[in-house]
Amino acid sequence: MASVSAGQQNLNWIGRFAPTPSGPLHFGSLVAAVGSYCVARHKNGLWLLRIEDLDPPREVAGAATEILKTLEAFGFEWDREVCYQSKQQNHYRAALEQLENQKVTYRCDCSRKLVLQRNSGVYDSYCRSRALDNGVESATRIRFESGYESFEDRILGKCCFERPADTQDFVVQRRDGLFAYQLAVVVDDIEQNVNHVVRGADILDSTPRQNYLYHCLKVAPPSYYHLPLVVDAQGEKFSKSRFSPSIKCEQASRWLVEALCHLGQKVDQNLISATPPEILDWAITHWRTSDVGTKARVFSALKT
Ligand SMILES: [Zn+2]
Repeated sequence: MASVSAGQQNLNWIGRFAPTPSGPLHFGSLVAAVGSYCVARHKNGLWLLRIEDLDPPREVAGAATEILKTLEAFGFEWDREVCYQSKQQNHYRAALEQLENQKVTYRCDCSRKLVLQRNSGVYDSYCRSRALDNGVESATRIRFESGYESFEDRILGKCCFERPADTQDFVVQRRDGLFAYQLAVVVDDIEQNVNHVVRGADILDSTPRQNYLYHCLKVAPPSYYHLPLVVDAQGEKFSKSRFSPSIKCEQASRWLVEALCHLGQKVDQNLISATPPEILDWAITHWRTSDVGTKARVFSALKT
């Protein structure tokens, strides 16, 4: 479905958009889609699509199909087949084995409640030196090492993380056997050769943990671009768990222009009368990462 012929594509530049199918796309997701699309296409790079259906209980039936339809209606064209995390389990298992063989993981049977009581919810490495019996139901954690607390973001500049929560020994496989988000994202991006990660700043504080996983898996981390958050008038983050209007296909052009404004791009308001593919073409040509800015912006237009 690529918009440019394979000969013109820059196969060394690979970006992606990775929505979770827990509901319809909302404005915050659209911003991440537009940002990641423009960054990749402006460099003639590839733009891949991944459905993060890692956690079956959180998934809403039909949401993945709905997301794909919405993206099509908004004029997005992705490269390669859509990747589904639910079909990537073998890759996660192999990565976990690699980590276990390196002896950087350990089993932990501490409940959330216990961690909360002991250390206000930040994991205190309690099980590092314990050897749990095989029969004990447990999660697998990775020993976080110092040295990964900061990184250079292409939008935010130097980012440093000093909160213990960002650098604790984190879970890579949950007690119920599901692979944890941090591990899955890193393994998927490695497997899909993604080297430019553009996403909302709500995932910013995961980056040190993800960079540490890249280190353990012996792969260079990608370049990161964290986009300004979309917040409501009270300063609360837009997310699917709170009330936020899902974007409407019949107003795709207006929503796209709104997303580009949110991303600081100097949009001519006449663009609203153009078709979604025309708007995206304009956006790709005129894209400027340096205009994105770093501040969270209030979502005000297109109130439904
Ligand atoms: Zn523990």
